[in-house]
Amino acid sequence: MTAPPDLTVVNVGYRSTNYWVVSAGRSRLLFDLGWPGTMGMLRANLRRADIPLPEIRCGLASHYHIDHAGLAQELTLAGVRILVFETQLAAIPSMKAFTKPQNHYLEFETGGIVPVPFAESRTILKEIGIGGEVLPTPGHSADSISLLLDDGSAFTGDLPPEELAEAGDPDLVRASWRLLCEKGARRVYPAHGPVRTM
Ligand SMILES: [Zn+2]
Repeated sequence: MTAPPDLTVVNVGYRSTNYWVVSAGRSRLLFDLGWPGTMGMLRANLRRADIPLPEIRCGLASHYHIDHAGLAQELTLAGVRILVFETQLAAIPSMKAFTKPQNHYLEFETGGIVPVPFAESRTILKEIGIGGEVLPTPGHSADSISLLLDDGSAFTGDLPPEELAEAGDPDLVRASWRLLCEKGARRVYPAHGPVRTM
């Protein structure tokens, strides 16, 4: 896996979903937040990858569907700051409707959360040593975001590839890829499937 010289990217995913840890030394970020009720699995995978949970400075959900944000509350309780972006807050309550009691979803309590404007993402990432920004990339869902590192690595969640734009809102999907492309995305780290070049 290619990564910028000062950053490393590790996949700690499971159940055919990729969860990415981007690290600047021991300052780390988690992109996508696990299935509900699987904190033990996430912890085990982090341990296997030699990534202490307290080194994860913040977590981002590509969007608030349960396979991407199911552990938001557990991670919050474990001390990880979850960055909820301005287009995302409204999507969070519906996660509860898509889980059954046997999923053991712990509801993400957003009462104290101040949504982050996209324009502030670069500053926040810089504070943890990561050069990049977060962009709104709707198309799979209205609240979908992407993390774009300055070396061109783009973490795109469930944004369908352009040739499969019909799997989402095709115009929005194409516009999101156009934005990523204009901003310098060269390599795609999707939530499902292998890393690919653009
Ligand atoms: Zn989704």
